[in-house]
Amino acid sequence: MALTIASNRLTGALFDKEVLFDPCEHKDSGPFDTGEPDTIVIHFTAGPTLSSAVNTFKNPDIESSAHLIIDRDGSIVQMVDFGRIAWHAGTSRWQERSSLNRYAIGIELVNAGELTPSGGGYLAWFGRRYEDAEVIQAIHRNQTVPSYWHTYTAEQIEACFEVCRILKNSYGIRTIVGHEEIAPGRKIDPGPAFPLDRLRDRILTGRHADTGIAEDETADATVTASLLNVRAQPSGSAPLAGDPIEKGTRVELVERNGVWQKVRICREGWVHGDYLQTDTPVG
Ligand SMILES: [Zn+2]
Repeated sequence: MALTIASNRLTGALFDKEVLFDPCEHKDSGPFDTGEPDTIVIHFTAGPTLSSAVNTFKNPDIESSAHLIIDRDGSIVQMVDFGRIAWHAGTSRWQERSSLNRYAIGIELVNAGELTPSGGGYLAWFGRRYEDAEVIQAIHRNQTVPSYWHTYTAEQIEACFEVCRILKNSYGIRTIVGHEEIAPGRKIDPGPAFPLDRLRDRILTGRHADTGIAEDETADATVTASLLNVRAQPSGSAPLAGDPIEKGTRVELVERNGVWQKVRICREGWVHGDYLQTDTPVG
């Protein structure tokens, strides 16, 4: 695994596959202003394959483009130089900024997006069928009820984390957001199947470094107590932070303090670490 950036292009190989540069010409708004980009926006393609995404971005009639596409096997295609403004965010807002294209590198991951249960399987909007093994049920951060989502592959997530790490080091990236966060109500990508909060923790804050969780381990766990209290501070006498978590709920491990483990579901709080079953680490 050795990726580098030279002249605003990603070069090298990941998973033994060379990064490909396949430009979508005339689909950018010129160079970034000085000091930009400092942001990454994560997307899903809502399509079946890498080639369908590449063809969409090359289509002169479709006003969209992105810097990178990451395929399901972790291979990477760059379509716009990192020094130029691509068209991926559209109407968008994050804190004091609007029109995030002017500040952000856009990374697209090949993923079908939200799926509809149908005859024992799940259907994407473009008609392809997906089976249980590739589908999770989860609540989107902008929604209140669970729905079905195409999963990302481990290679795809690893490639995305690696690319974000390199981009941060090369461009001083300070912000990583999902399209769903800068255009809520209009966009739902990358959705709950993507570990967006963990990506931010790993790349931007490095908080995992002092949590006792090694960098190459997963930081997820499953609640084993039937109802687990969530507290505002790492203490049994601290006030409760909202409703307890039900048994079987997947949580993300954020920070450790003695027997207390800070976790994230859609919220953060402190739970007693004895009532968590930590995942077996995977590379
Ligand atoms: Zn998007």
